[in-house]
Amino acid sequence: MPDSPDVAIVGGGVVGCATAYFLTRDGYSVTLIERNSVASHASGFAYGGLSPIVGIIEDDPVLPLSEASDALHSELAERLPAESGVEYEYRTKTSLTLASDPAQVDELREAHDWLKLHYKSEVVWHDEASLHALEPRVGPSVTAGLLADRSGEVEPYRFTLALWQAAERAGAQMRNAEVVGVTRVAGNVSALCLSNGEEIEADAFVFAAGPWMGKATEWLGIDMPISPLKGQILRLKAPGDPLAVSLSWSHNYATTKPDGLLWCGTTEERVGFDETPSAYGRDTIMKSVVEVLPYLVDAELVHHTACLRPVAPDGLPVIGPAPNNAGVFIASGSGRKGIFLGPAMARSVADMVAGKASSIGVSGLSADRFSGVR
Ligand SMILES: Cc1cc2nc3c(=O)[nH]c(=O)nc-3n(C[C@H](O)[C@H](O)[C@H](O)COP(=O)(O)OP(=O)(O)OC[C@H]3O[C@@H](n4cnc5c(N)ncnc54)[C@H](O)[C@@H]3O)c2cc1C
Repeated sequence: MPDSPDVAIVGGGVVGCATAYFLTRDGYSVTLIERNSVASHASGFAYGGLSPIVGIIEDDPVLPLSEASDALHSELAERLPAESGVEYEYRTKTSLTLASDPAQVDELREAHDWLKLHYKSEVVWHDEASLHALEPRVGPSVTAGLLADRSGEVEPYRFTLALWQAAERAGAQMRNAEVVGVTRVAGNVSALCLSNGEEIEADAFVFAAGPWMGKATEWLGIDMPISPLKGQILRLKAPGDPLAVSLSWSHNYATTKPDGLLWCGTTEERVGFDETPSAYGRDTIMKSVVEVLPYLVDAELVHHTACLRPVAPDGLPVIGPAPNNAGVFIASGSGRKGIFLGPAMARSVADMVAGKASSIGVSGLSADRFSGVR
């Protein structure tokens, strides 16, 4: 291992591991510092939906990133299992967004009209009758649906592990330690200080610490108020056939995974760094799921998880140079879509480290947009 890698990365979630993957492919030596283990937080416990269309609106600053990540996921699916030795269950899957009350129907109709212009036959509107013909188990409260062919899924823990294993096979090193500060020389960050007293010097630094970016922003002296948004997921043993499509409604969803279980969620909770599954999460999710899929009323709860999304105040990812810190880059704030957006966020940051113009548009996502916001 070189004493000083070219690049030191903080955080072994999907964003940090994907950044290590692309940088090693570009010929850089990389050390990744993770205080727990790879994908031990949200990147290992997410739902794993890849949603290039769901939630995208006209003039969305995330659209270029989203399209780039859609393409990168397809490319990675071709080569990453062989490069890493890890199968991560990538598959394309049709998604169906559901609406119940009139306001939701109007909102979905508006999304449909714009998406139809861009994605044409890949987007299909369903009224009440055709929707219930498509999935007869959907409850009577649901009155419309938007079918999108351009969705997919991965098993998020294995996907993140695959990115790391491929990076490691290409020479990346892991340090199992907590970063507790930075050292500066002539005002610039020159090293990361670890909890075991070691320092990791490098030419460039990438902070991909998920919702724990607050500490890093203190060390870097920048304004970047990324905070945790807790979400919970239930895995159910459901009666009958698997769901043929992935369902989503308001901020909830349900899909049958390759493990045969029906995964459903979720919650959006502002409870600090609490990652414990709770009765509140279980009851809230079950209430919403049974309203949309009444046949699940007696489904058996097999597993219950909780984890934290990294969220910026405007809900957009944060990608780019850390203001006033030469050689330091930020990649976080992926919110509800980090498994999907992680590859494009990482590719973009790897291009920035190399000083290359990236083909991935990240306008509006830079790390200097919070100046003065704490
Ligand atoms: C319930 C739920 C469902 C989700 N479903 C989906 C989905 O279907 N599709 C989708 O695209 N996204 C989904 N997400 C979002 C996705 O999981 C996150 O956006 C993504 O995992 C964030 O990745 P990350 O690498 O930024 O952060 P994390 O996965 O949180 O990784 C950050 C890592 O940094 C480490 N770290 C932090 N500070 C330090 C330090 N000082 N020193 C060393 N290490 C440190 C942590 O230990 C952690 O391992 C979901 C999230 C939740 C909560």
